[in-house]
Amino acid sequence: MLLRHTKDEVMEREALTINPAKTCQPIGAMYAALGIHGCLPHSHGSQGCCSYHRSTLTRHYKEPVMAATSSFTEGASVFGGQANLVTAIDNIFTVYEPDIIAVHSTCLSETIGDDLQQIATKAKDDGKVPEGKYVIYAPTPSFVGSHVTGYGNMVQAMAEQFAVSTGETLDQVNIAAGWMEPSDMREIKRIAKEMEVTVRMFPDTSDVLDAPQTGKHVFYPKGGITIPELKSTGDSKFTVALGCFSGEPGGVALEKKCKVPFQTEDLPIGLRATDRCLMTLSKAAGVKIPQSITDERGRLLDVMTDMEQYFSGKKVALFGDPDHLIPLTEFLIDLNMKPVHIVSGTPGKRFEQRMKAILEDTVPEANVKNGPQADMFLLHQWIKNEPVDLLIGNTYGKYIARDEDIPFVRFGFPIVDRIGHSYFPSVGYMGGLRLVEKILGVLMDRQDRDAPEESFELVM
Ligand code: SF4
Repeated sequence: MLLRHTKDEVMEREALTINPAKTCQPIGAMYAALGIHGCLPHSHGSQGCCSYHRSTLTRHYKEPVMAATSSFTEGASVFGGQANLVTAIDNIFTVYEPDIIAVHSTCLSETIGDDLQQIATKAKDDGKVPEGKYVIYAPTPSFVGSHVTGYGNMVQAMAEQFAVSTGETLDQVNIAAGWMEPSDMREIKRIAKEMEVTVRMFPDTSDVLDAPQTGKHVFYPKGGITIPELKSTGDSKFTVALGCFSGEPGGVALEKKCKVPFQTEDLPIGLRATDRCLMTLSKAAGVKIPQSITDERGRLLDVMTDMEQYFSGKKVALFGDPDHLIPLTEFLIDLNMKPVHIVSGTPGKRFEQRMKAILEDTVPEANVKNGPQADMFLLHQWIKNEPVDLLIGNTYGKYIARDEDIPFVRFGFPIVDRIGHSYFPSVGYMGGLRLVEKILGVLMDRQDRDAPEESFELVM
């Protein structure tokens, strides 16, 4: 019993978070920045923050995550970190030769009041940014929001600080990619290719955090959107923003700066969210969905109907990031399951609104909460009051799963005790199939484990 002190009596809390269902803003900004080719993320704060962010990403992706830091000590903490950042920019371009440095702030530098825009301009004016190289910046104060907010802020910074409108409209569609695995970004690009649509996806961490082993270390892997591609997003004919929390800021910024129209869709997790996403992409590009993709849809639908008896009525508790939970909940309902407890540590009113709309016809009584007090402790209490057949969430859910003996599917961020998430997609129809397989696997394992001898089935 690892969480033996969790009581089932739920009390209203205002100022206390216990085992948060989120992590800190700069982690998201760092992850997004890695989706630009030749980019070195830079953490404007103390070394401890940077090593925490790097190690979390490294543990999740099982890849070495490079990032620099302004290395605040007492002096910078009191007088501000401008001198540290300007020196850092000079050193980084000299020693590590990135094409771009993407700076994000931290709690400390935000509390002092460091102005990243002003410092980046000073570094440029002082000649510390070589010709053809770039410094972009995003504010990521971690005393508000979550890693999802930080990711969204960096996506917004990419659009704001790079997109250029030349007046010529290119035959390409932007994908402002919400927080997904490299495998998911790769899958969306595959689908777009199949549809014969040229997409500019930003950020794009495929071939950066799932780079193949070649026996040779490269500091900047081959993946990521290039700077010319990023600039050209201002001339695209449309932007599909994926995820209202993490992708939409990119779409909004592009519309504001370059008048590129956009539409926000959910991340294409599950059947209906994928349908909507692909319809929007096909409309934006003026192309038809090819038969090969329709066949993939048909295969997912076939498995969903064949296996419906194993899903039907099963109660699910899930936690994680809003852009994942919204389409995932919808997908669970399509599988005839009952999502009864849902928490996300990321604040934002749209989560509650969307969840209400998704659940109102089928599970109106579901417990849904997001924000600082929507933590793992609360989720555990809810489960104690109303047990579930399945738990879905990141690695931190394993404590609850073990204590309450619940089948557990790892999904979201971070996953630090399994592999696969960065290599096999969860988006699109093929990703839906993988999710179905994972859920079915743990439910059937549990059925096998608990079946009395006389009803232990060979064929299921
Ligand atoms: S919460 Fe703030 S202080 Fe803590 S690691 Fe994140 S940025 Fe640094």
